Amino acid sequence: MSLTGHLLIGAADVPATEGTMKALNPATNTLIEPEFAFGGRAQVDQAATLADAAFDSYSHTSLAERAAFLESIADNLNAAREELAARAALETGLPQAQLEGEAARAATQFRQFAEVVRKGRFLQLAIDPAQPDRQPRPRMDHRLQKVAIGPVAIFGASNFPISYSVAGGDTASALAAGATVILKAHNAHPGASEIQARAIRKAVQMHGLHEGVFSMVRGGGNAIGEALVDHPLIKAVTFTGSEVGGMALYRRAQLRPDPIPVFTEMTSVNPTFILPEALEARGAEIGDGFVERMLVNVGQACLCPSILIAVEGEGLQALRSAMINRVSAAPARTMLTPGIHGSYVKGLEAMESVGANLVAVGAPADGQLEGRSALLEVDGQRLLSEPALAHEVFGPAALLVTVNDEEELLAVARSFKGQLSAAIHLEDRDLDLARRLLPILERRTGRIVVNAFAHPQEVTFATVHGGPFPATSDSRFTSVGMTSIERFLRPVAYQGFPDALLPEVLREGNPLGLPRSIDGQ
Ligand code: NAP
Repeated sequence: MSLTGHLLIGAADVPATEGTMKALNPATNTLIEPEFAFGGRAQVDQAATLADAAFDSYSHTSLAERAAFLESIADNLNAAREELAARAALETGLPQAQLEGEAARAATQFRQFAEVVRKGRFLQLAIDPAQPDRQPRPRMDHRLQKVAIGPVAIFGASNFPISYSVAGGDTASALAAGATVILKAHNAHPGASEIQARAIRKAVQMHGLHEGVFSMVRGGGNAIGEALVDHPLIKAVTFTGSEVGGMALYRRAQLRPDPIPVFTEMTSVNPTFILPEALEARGAEIGDGFVERMLVNVGQACLCPSILIAVEGEGLQALRSAMINRVSAAPARTMLTPGIHGSYVKGLEAMESVGANLVAVGAPADGQLEGRSALLEVDGQRLLSEPALAHEVFGPAALLVTVNDEEELLAVARSFKGQLSAAIHLEDRDLDLARRLLPILERRTGRIVVNAFAHPQEVTFATVHGGPFPATSDSRFTSVGMTSIERFLRPVAYQGFPDALLPEVLREGNPLGLPRSIDGQ
């Protein structure tokens, strides 16, 4: 496919109205063809008007039709997989083989959501039949289903250019819910974004759906994102990126005359606690495994563990040596964007300026945008007195925190803000301490992992990729996994309806054979 650089608004290829950009190849720090169009408020309005016009018909597609549409997106992504991975590799500096895996994961997510749609459990159908003889007054027939929230705006993430971007989990779950989607493409990978958007548009056309089911816009600054969040026809927003950006959009949405939900996924250091018996038994192995996961995606993954807490004692030296060896041997690797590279370098300087000791660095960087891995160290008291040490440094860096005893380990755990995940490494004789640590972590994280690391992530019904602020802006929801669809649903109750007027999924006789609760059973 030859890239055109257009905005994809419904069925139209829309040329630039607000200037253009070229993609950057971060490995060579050079620009790549072609030019990509920037749009503005008028293009957001065009896309939102179409998304609104498409909403009624798309949100009422049958479950079978919608599932087949999602499967066609998966097929189209698979067909474009090699080209997509090659372009994404040029635009991100990430290995092509890894990106082919990411494309496969994205296609699989659409298939998984097709199954979710077919099974219909996400509709959470509930029927509380009429009780005409109930005293002191009769009860009407009540029936509930979940419906799509409306047209939604999705901000593609920079760090996974496929599985968290245009064809990522947010788009898959929103389309599965029956929402129409306007995707704000991330400027870090415009070509990969276009290939994915065309795969989705092709499926819209294959299934004869309204053209407004999916659009992709792009802009050269905050204006396009602000226009999306402000647009009165947009009913929810999802975002993955920085805390500053996410909170600016969140606050903006709350200032609308009609505030809307904004689901932001922002920042997490994914603290890892090594309990004393595990440290003694497996210190070197855990240190090695920790650094391996910290280096995934050049440290640019939301689940990369970046703070490790261990109690002084047997095994600490083995753990420290293993981490130093692994970090020292790590080659410098290309980071995603000049902005992310610059923030990484500044983040390391900031850590040192507030008392962290740099104990190991990786091989020196060749390219301008390569990130050199780093291991820093502090003691527990320093971390407790300097909250800035617990901030995320997005990149291949880790902070080893040594604490004097179990009480200090628990105090450090209490000092963390909201996290996507935390990990505990333990042996049987650590269970008493683990039982004390667990309630502290439950209050602060969306996921707790034992004797492993949170990355890589499965996409399942029990997956939680969320957590209290600042990990996300709404800890009640996950942005990955099958229940991420709930972000795009709201309940509607139907009272006293004649059967012929009810939505098919709620009719007597259960014509679609869907799971339904009757009087709570
Ligand atoms: P970002 O700067 O927050 O940008 C994400 C997206 O939101 C971009 O499309 C950006 O548009 C848009 N945006 C940001 N602020 C906006 C605002 N105030 N108004 C309107 N639109 C806005 O994130 P990034 O570019 O991906 O990376 C920057 C930093 O984010 C990283 O260094 C890292 O710290 C963090 N990050 C964290 C995660 C995670 O999962 N924890 C993932 C990715 C990034 P423009 O590009 O046009 O400005």
